[in-house]
Amino acid sequence: MVTKKRGHLFVISGPSGAGKGTIRRELFKRLPDLIYSVSCTTRPPREGEVNGVDYYFIDPEKFAEKQRCGEFLEWAFVHGNYYGTPKDDVLKHLEEGRDVILEIDVQGAINIKKVFPEAVLIFILPPSEEALKQRLISRGTENEESLMIRLNNAALEMKLVDIYDHAIINDDVNRATDELIDIITSYRKGEKKD
Ligand code: 5GP
Repeated sequence: MVTKKRGHLFVISGPSGAGKGTIRRELFKRLPDLIYSVSCTTRPPREGEVNGVDYYFIDPEKFAEKQRCGEFLEWAFVHGNYYGTPKDDVLKHLEEGRDVILEIDVQGAINIKKVFPEAVLIFILPPSEEALKQRLISRGTENEESLMIRLNNAALEMKLVDIYDHAIINDDVNRATDELIDIITSYRKGEKKD
């Protein structure tokens, strides 16, 4: 009997404004066979965000029900909202041998590592704290309060970079994406063990 090899689980984290989303979109253009796990959140959609593509936007009651029913692989309260990774989809894709990308915060990455010690954790860093602040301001998605929350959380998150298997500095989106693809490819080829 031939058993299918399980897929790899890659977890991407980094402070809000480090450019994770941009790198991830570039990554999926270049490696379209990867699976992106769409999270659930109680955060309201930003302009242009699509339900079921960027997130499943659900209300706090629905989120709590999913928590109770054990439907999340992990969940966390981040910047004032709940976020969770749907369990069944991720497990199904991994069992089918597909490689899955989670883009989640540091608490989520720590919890994933407890249930999936083989998960590969990758941290995206901004070139500097000032660059991070400027990116968040120019993105124009945050009000003053949420900007402050995100900047404070960024400082805390960056202290935890050492728990990650790899760190990438996003000084240039194409270069950082190349580095990410090199990391993913090395696990796929078995050069690196997860
Ligand atoms: P944003 O509101 O900017 O889309 O995301 C805020 C933070 O929540 C980011 O650090 C993002 O990676 C994280 N996040 C998104 N989905 C999940 C999830 O399912 N679980 C956890 N723990 N964090 C998530």
